Amino acid sequence: MMDALERLKFLSSEMQHEPAEDAGCPQPLRNHRSKEVYLSKAVLPNGQRITLLKSLLTSACERNCYYCPFRAGRDTRRETFKPEEYARTFINLYRAGLVEGSFLSSGIIGGGVRTQDQLLDTADILRRMGYTGYLHLKIMPGAERDQVLRAMQLADRLSINLEAPNSQRLERLAPGKLFTEELIRPLRWVEEIRRSQPGHHGWNQRWPSTVTQFVVGGADESDVELLKTSEYLYRALRLSRAYYSPFTPVTNTPLENHPATHPLREHRLYQASFLLRDYGFSVEELAFDVQGNLPLQSDPKHAWAMAHLSQAPLEINRASRKDLLRIPGIGPKAADTIIRLRRQERLRSLDALAHAGIQAQKAAPFILLDGRRPNHQLSLWQLSSKTPWSNPYPK
Ligand code: SF4
Repeated sequence: MMDALERLKFLSSEMQHEPAEDAGCPQPLRNHRSKEVYLSKAVLPNGQRITLLKSLLTSACERNCYYCPFRAGRDTRRETFKPEEYARTFINLYRAGLVEGSFLSSGIIGGGVRTQDQLLDTADILRRMGYTGYLHLKIMPGAERDQVLRAMQLADRLSINLEAPNSQRLERLAPGKLFTEELIRPLRWVEEIRRSQPGHHGWNQRWPSTVTQFVVGGADESDVELLKTSEYLYRALRLSRAYYSPFTPVTNTPLENHPATHPLREHRLYQASFLLRDYGFSVEELAFDVQGNLPLQSDPKHAWAMAHLSQAPLEINRASRKDLLRIPGIGPKAADTIIRLRRQERLRSLDALAHAGIQAQKAAPFILLDGRRPNHQLSLWQLSSKTPWSNPYPK
C-alpha cells in the first residue's frame, strides 16, 4: 500500500496544470498537500464542492508534445498503475473519507485505443466496487467511438483536450496529434450520442458533460483563435467549459525557451469565454487589439459597455433579460432578480439594486432608473462589501 501511495503522490502532483473543476477562476496555488497525495478543492458541475483526486494512470508516454514534461525520451520519473491497483488505492482513500471524487488521465502507451481501455477498465472496476462518487475521465487521442460511448456510461464528465485552437497551431505544440480526427471527432461523437439517445443515460441517469483545455500562449495563437474555437464548442457541441491553462516552459523540452504566458491573459480569456457561454455575446462583438488579443488592461464586458452603452444607457425597468446581461455588474442571477423585482415595483434607486445583491455601482454608468441616470457615488455599505478580484462576472 505504501508503494501505491508513493506512486499516487507523484502522479497526482503532476496534474497541477489541469485546471478542470478547480474552485473559481484557477488560482496559482491550486492544490494543497493532504496526507500522502495532492488533492484539489473542486467545484462540480452541479455546484457541489468536493475534495478531488486528480491523477495520471501512468506518466510514461510515447508521444512527443513539445510542452509536456512526460514527452517520450525526456529524462523524468515514470510511474504506472494497473487498473485494479489504482481502483483499489483510490477506493481505500475514498472509504477513509480522504477523497470524494476522481479525475483520471494518462500518458499514452501502446496507442490511444489501448490506453483508453486502461482508463475504462479502471472506471469499470471502480463502479463495480460500488463507487458512486464523481468520476472525470480523459478521452485519449485516437480513442474509438465505442470507447467514447463506454466512457459516457461510466463517467460524470469527459475531457478531450484540444490544447490548441486549430490544426496549424496544434502542429506547433503537439505534432503527433491530429486536431480534427483525434480531438474534435470524439467531442462530436459525444454530442451525437447525447442527441440520438436522449432517453439512454449513463451510470447515474445523466449523460456526462464535456470540457476541454487549451495551452495558452505555447503556439503563439491569438485570443481570437482560442475564443472562436471555444464559441464553436459551446454552440455546436454543447461543451460545458473551456479551460485555459497558461503555457509554462518545462526544461529539456523543445519549448523550454518559449516565454511563459502572463496570468492576466488567462483571466481575460475566462471572462470572455463566460460572455460567450452565459451572456449571449459572440466573438465578433468583443474588442481585440491588432494582434487579435483581448486588451489585458480592461475587462471585456466593461469595454463593450463603454463602447455601446455609456451614451445609450438601458432602462432597468424595461430592458429584456438579454439586454440586462449586457450591463456590467449584472449576471444571469441578477438579471432574473431584476425581472422579479420590477414585477412588484418600479426600480428607482441604486440602493434598491444593491440590497438585492446586484453590483449596482458597476452597472450605474450604463443604466437608467425610471428614466434617469443614477447618481453612482459609492456608499459606505457598498465600499465595505467590495471584492475586486473575485468571480469575474456575477452569476
Ligand atoms: S500525449 Fe499527453 S502525456 Fe503524452 S506527451 Fe502529449 S500531452 Fe504529454
